[in-house]
Amino acid sequence: MHLDMTQSPFAADGHWLKAALHTHSTVSDGWLTPEDLLAAHQRMGYQLVAFTDHHAVAPLPEPPAGVVVLTGVELTVPLGERSPHLVGLHLANPWPAGRKPQSLAEARDWLADSAGFWFLAHPGWSDLTTADLLAVEDLPAIEVYNSGCRLEIGRGYATYPWDAALSRGRRLGGLAVDDAHQAEHLGVGWTIVRAPRPTAEAAVAALAAGHYYASEGPVIEDLRFDAATGTLSVRCSPAQAVYFICRSAKGLACIAEPGSPRTEAAWPVDADCGYVRVEVVDPSGRRAWSGAFRVDPAGTP
Ligand SMILES: [Zn+2]
Ligand SMILES: [Zn+2]
Repeated sequence: MHLDMTQSPFAADGHWLKAALHTHSTVSDGWLTPEDLLAAHQRMGYQLVAFTDHHAVAPLPEPPAGVVVLTGVELTVPLGERSPHLVGLHLANPWPAGRKPQSLAEARDWLADSAGFWFLAHPGWSDLTTADLLAVEDLPAIEVYNSGCRLEIGRGYATYPWDAALSRGRRLGGLAVDDAHQAEHLGVGWTIVRAPRPTAEAAVAALAAGHYYASEGPVIEDLRFDAATGTLSVRCSPAQAVYFICRSAKGLACIAEPGSPRTEAAWPVDADCGYVRVEVVDPSGRRAWSGAFRVDPAGTP
């Protein structure tokens, strides 16, 4: 049995960057100018901020020391009566301001060519199914948590279609974002990126490599696989529960005793589990999501 940890941020060297990967400024329907949006994120301790306005690429403000900025865009795609949104970061070409893509394929192909990293936004808000996710060719990641969608309509979490896609063999990252359109939604969900250097190029390469985890509060401090014992272990900020989630019913729930939160958990990986990811729940119910790691039952450790 082999657990592929090459996509683990904990196996990579470098800087941890607290990232806002989906934002809106006054360039579209946000409430702050790009400069003020950047300053607000800096005050909240972010080191990586992407500007992802609707169908328009915001001019990048001059970042203060210690903060990396990325260009980006959010594209609304027609899909019958629904309208999925795709987000692209670190654009090699500007999206023509105001233009809307005519099809999912057009948006997907443009992003695959022009964005350093791209993902599907808020599957719940867009009412998307697992089949919809699987239909997007080589989709790198989805938002497993969009705090704006949770605070507005209660459909901020997307772990079900994520697991269903992973169970079907997809490699798919899970991001947490705010997608804030108002001050109250800022700083609620974020992605922690492990980049070898604090630069736009290195941060985007880290995202493409899967070197990140998502959170609305808990910290995942370490995630290690011991090949000798076949055990995956996690260390985290105080948690009421740590889940090892995999294909079907083969996972494990490690629930803390009331009043004594746990800061570590371990699972002897089942060779037939397909993939495994870790989800941490803190005492107030906030969650963090590691990426998913593939398990090859026939692989050497
Ligand atoms: Zn959207
Ligand atoms: Zn948005």
